[in-house]
Amino acid sequence: MKEATLYKAFQDGRVECTACARRCKLSDGQYGFCGVRWNLGGKLYLMVYGKISAIAVDPIEKKPLYHFNPGSMVLSFSTYGCSWACQYCQNFDISQRRVLEGFEVTPEKIVELAETYGTQGITYTYNEPSIFAEFAYDVGILARKRGGYSTHSLLTDT
Ligand code: SF4
Repeated sequence: MKEATLYKAFQDGRVECTACARRCKLSDGQYGFCGVRWNLGGKLYLMVYGKISAIAVDPIEKKPLYHFNPGSMVLSFSTYGCSWACQYCQNFDISQRRVLEGFEVTPEKIVELAETYGTQGITYTYNEPSIFAEFAYDVGILARKRGGYSTHSLLTDT
């Protein structure tokens, strides 16, 4: 877990999460709708920082992008939880599971894996990535610094 950056704290101990448009207002001890952001003692924590539910190498054409680096491969990963509850979600076993589980992995390891598999970018996908924005941000910054990772992007896969 890691303290979130995308939130506002109030003097009465509540917090307002600003990671997605739901803007959950949470009392001490409450989780947001996504099930992975938690008010603990007046601070908001991302409980799935460094915990991934799925990881795979995908062709960029599998993503909802149009003519974005055609022919390239991306390393895709997700956490559990979601800010949506779509009945047609094909990844419902990942997105609708409100559990704080996952394989432990650092941003550095994800970037290393992307290099090892010869991908050109990293994609946050399978669930709605805004719920783990702080984790995605750290991975993206690191990927950029290592060069050749211009295709990482925030998007949702279906
Ligand atoms: S990311 Fe989660 S806690 Fe934050 S506003 Fe969206 S659903 Fe609520």
